[in-house]
Amino acid sequence: MAFPYEDYLRAEFMPHIWCAGCGHGIIMKALIRAIDSLKLDKNKVVIASGIGCASRLPGYVDFDTLHTTHGRALAFATGVKLARPELSIIVVSGDGDAIAIGGNHFLHACQRNIDMTLVIFNNFNYGMTGGQVSPSTPYSAFTTTTPYGNPNYQFDVLGISKAAGATYVARSTTYHARHLEKMILGAISHKGFSVVEVLEDCPIAYGRRNRMGTPAQMLKRWKEMCVTFDAMKKLPPWRVKDKIPIGLYHQEERPDFWEEYQETIRKAKEEVQREA
Ligand code: SF4
Repeated sequence: MAFPYEDYLRAEFMPHIWCAGCGHGIIMKALIRAIDSLKLDKNKVVIASGIGCASRLPGYVDFDTLHTTHGRALAFATGVKLARPELSIIVVSGDGDAIAIGGNHFLHACQRNIDMTLVIFNNFNYGMTGGQVSPSTPYSAFTTTTPYGNPNYQFDVLGISKAAGATYVARSTTYHARHLEKMILGAISHKGFSVVEVLEDCPIAYGRRNRMGTPAQMLKRWKEMCVTFDAMKKLPPWRVKDKIPIGLYHQEERPDFWEEYQETIRKAKEEVQREA
């Protein structure tokens, strides 16, 4: 039986704005399947976004959704979580939105370990605004603002997420759709701040400029380039160089921000009672 995606979509907002061959639809479907597998009540799921092509996703899915300002989705989502801790909060964000314009919010959401999931749609450029360089653009890649090749090296999303305090950190790609679903499912199930980096394609603003072929050819690259973290460890050094590891990178347990904040409130109330 075909998966009932339509149960989770707002048909009135179709057709979507995404270009043919864009990876965003694959991520949206993986996210829906993960939520369905967890049997979450649709009325207790909040999906928030900032600005960008990826950030149009909340408009298309039938949950409680927030389309906020550029880079600020985590700040809005933090407010929702503190007011309604029982809700499952998922933030969807492009690479520019999450780690450039929203970079400061990203670091502090990791540090607070606030119980929510951030899915980063990493297509290596600002697609919606015309294909400008972003912190995840590979070294020497061409964008509208790096016409002679990007002089910067890529931002290490997984390493920085872990270093800043995120307690679930994983990576997948749009080629590995089932694997992606599993990583998102693990992230939503995890208590604490979860980051899932999804390597995907913007064939229009980025792929064309870098002569990467058709959307299908771009997608196939992920199959050729990616191996699991476990498989990576078994590769000889000369084969590791051009490979990208995918899977669960880091997971740990520690109290989340809401729990810690309750303790602060308890201490404050005790003090007020003592002084009364
Ligand atoms: Fe997708 Fe790129 Fe088109 Fe935006 S510009 S919808 S990221 S292909």
